[in-house]
Amino acid sequence: MMKMNFDLDALFIEHGCADSTLAARIIRSIPAGVPVHHVADAREVARPAHDARDPFGAGKRQMIIARRKTPFLMACPAGSSKFACCGYLVLTLASNCPMDCSYCFLQEYLADNPAFQVYANFADSFAELNRLVKSAPGRSFRIGTGELADSLAFDSITGISRELVRFFAAYENLTLELKTKTDEIENLLDLDPRGRVLVSWTLSSDNVYRSSEHRTASPTARIAAARAVLEAGYRVAFHFDPLIAYPGAERDYVRLIDELLDSVPAKKISFISMGGLRMTPALRTIARHRFSTDPMLCGEDVLASDGRFRTFTPLRLKLYRTLEERFRKAGAEIPAYLCMEPASIHERVFGEAPIKPAGLGERLASSRPI
Ligand code: SF4
Repeated sequence: MMKMNFDLDALFIEHGCADSTLAARIIRSIPAGVPVHHVADAREVARPAHDARDPFGAGKRQMIIARRKTPFLMACPAGSSKFACCGYLVLTLASNCPMDCSYCFLQEYLADNPAFQVYANFADSFAELNRLVKSAPGRSFRIGTGELADSLAFDSITGISRELVRFFAAYENLTLELKTKTDEIENLLDLDPRGRVLVSWTLSSDNVYRSSEHRTASPTARIAAARAVLEAGYRVAFHFDPLIAYPGAERDYVRLIDELLDSVPAKKISFISMGGLRMTPALRTIARHRFSTDPMLCGEDVLASDGRFRTFTPLRLKLYRTLEERFRKAGAEIPAYLCMEPASIHERVFGEAPIKPAGLGERLASSRPI
């Protein structure tokens, strides 16, 4: 069993989940001193009283094992007719995250959460996936677990990645995307994903990592982990999201890509995505309050028509183009898309209109590096 690499002040187990396989695994893996409480309903769990200054941060040190009562599978909440999006499906096996990035949208989306949750009935998601496959024969789907939580943040104590990999390996037209900022890959290395599991890393420059991505693995450690899973038979992809325009950003991101391409050959990268820093007014207020000294939250931004503060367009276009050019120079045609940007920005970066979300989703799901 891997070593748990985050702090846990308390574990809560909802009625009916105590005998689950997941609860048994977690109890076996957490340090002996962590108090375990049994509750009738996960909604009874309160925020820790000892940290009134940052209750959301304190909630990142409490875990709830509960039963998920709503479907596990849904369309990506970032998808909308306004954006040139990628037709992604989200599988929610956990919510909230023990890491703490200053720009993370969960600070607003899950603002009242007293803890992070994992779902004891996660295996029910396999029945939902079976129904999806039967409902659309011949179509390919890319399904990710990294929307409301980091896909591998809890894997040292839940081991869920092993069940997921074995399940997806059996389906030709499903691609699982495990999206992470950790280097917790040990559970993956001795399995055969049969080309159907992609592990993707969000990569940021060292300056962004140091000022904004608390308790994550360093960019160098993420790249080393990518190299290791590639050698173990997994596909790999990279998200440059959020790209943050600060003085020296272009130089730093080019350096980051150079470091990446030294370890992972361009032709082995399944795709890249890029997205500029964007925050709703509420998220911007929360983030600036919780991380008042983070310079990355104070760049030049404007309130865009979708109601989010975005990096001033010429600055983010410059960053997109710098990255696109660096990857193009690497000589391999790496599929690329922009996250939550309108088609007009896509055209200005790539010189062509984006393909429709469903088509792009299928292409990303089925594109295999050479
Ligand atoms: S790793 Fe991802 S989910 Fe976790 S805090 Fe950072 S941005 Fe949020």
